[in-house]
Amino acid sequence: MATVCKFGGTSLAAAENIQRCCKIVQADENRRFVVVSAPGKRHKGDRKVTDLLHDCYVNRFDEAVFNATFSAIENIFSEIAAIVPTFPIAEELQIIRAQIRFSEANLDFVLSRGEYLNAKLIAAYLGYEFLDATAFIRFKNGELDMLATRAEACALDKNKRYVIPGFYGVDERGHVKTFSRGGSDITGSVVANVFGCDLYENWTDVDGIYVSDPKLMENAKKVSQVSFRELREMSYMGASVLHAETLLPIYENPIPIVIKNSFNPEKCGTQILKKRTEVSDKEAITCITGKNDYTCIQISKMMLDKQLGFVKKATAVFEEYHINISHTHSGLDNLCFFVEHSQYAEISFANFLKVLAERVDADGIQGHEKIALLAVIGHNLSGKIGVLAKIFNALKNSGVNVKTIYQSISECNIIIGVEDEHLTSGIQAIYRDLIEE
Ligand code: ASP
Repeated sequence: MATVCKFGGTSLAAAENIQRCCKIVQADENRRFVVVSAPGKRHKGDRKVTDLLHDCYVNRFDEAVFNATFSAIENIFSEIAAIVPTFPIAEELQIIRAQIRFSEANLDFVLSRGEYLNAKLIAAYLGYEFLDATAFIRFKNGELDMLATRAEACALDKNKRYVIPGFYGVDERGHVKTFSRGGSDITGSVVANVFGCDLYENWTDVDGIYVSDPKLMENAKKVSQVSFRELREMSYMGASVLHAETLLPIYENPIPIVIKNSFNPEKCGTQILKKRTEVSDKEAITCITGKNDYTCIQISKMMLDKQLGFVKKATAVFEEYHINISHTHSGLDNLCFFVEHSQYAEISFANFLKVLAERVDADGIQGHEKIALLAVIGHNLSGKIGVLAKIFNALKNSGVNVKTIYQSISECNIIIGVEDEHLTSGIQAIYRDLIEE
């Protein structure tokens, strides 16, 4: 039996937090693979080491700003390193400082140094071997290359106990490449896969997954189980549970994930399973969440149903400008594309509408901004009578105007488009009527 434990930034933000996590590791001999984040925030208003490293990179030619920022990192690590008196923290920091200031190090390399140093320190404290993620995690064309990663991992001794830095690997040219922010969760899955673990424990600073963000709903209910499919929908729709790509490396050979609280390890947490085993009506809804700042582009064309290749022509324009479409809805004579506002990087939203009008022979193209998509996620929602009625009733009673709705037969989500400003009140209203009732 082997377990991979991934500890998040808050769990490792200070010396005593790290000691608490190491106690957790030592309490179960199956916990042989430990994946760590960089130190996170110790208190409100504090800054994460990864953010400080980012600022160091940006200001690497401004000596005064660089020194001030780097000394904040030195303080954090020096305090942590006190738990391993033999650890050469000053030398390690000196090397990193020089790498940022005087070498050609790229941004990803600089960002990765928080995880790197934390893993080295924690390995020394636990007496585990430090295994750098660059030894086996491979990227190709900017994406995780699982085939190459598995091949590299074949050479590693799987019987050892390792501490592995999360968040990065190397690309085709041997340069450090990071996942997107929060990516240590993905490293946990990669490690689970290549080392053949039976369990992935993701240790964080909350007791598990909540139906709604506790910041929006005080006393939000915790869920005991979530399916892989539900987790994907949740992360995609803005619930900050795990990184949205966490499941990719373990999708083929699924193992259970459990979200646990390193500050409260006795609590049972939330299990994430390929398929839920508990699907009572009480647990049917696992998440009410949402994201704002979407745009909606509506294309109308009379007799659209008879136009061969019309959709292809329209989507080709999105592709050309590298604009990722989040959701599509279609009616008899119209098509709707929902796109996150941040996607308009190469071209502005207004100009994109103009290009679309030139390239697609439509009767009309309308663009809307400031749309929020609210998602209700759960098990077999389309098979339950009255869920939609309750949702709409809740929204009506709190004065939220529904602009669009989408529910597919087989999936586990209902997506509702509302005005940006109604996202929070919409989530709260649905939670009150469907969960608290
Ligand atoms: N340290 C990185 C971040 O703050 C990666 C991680 O913690 O997963 O995003």
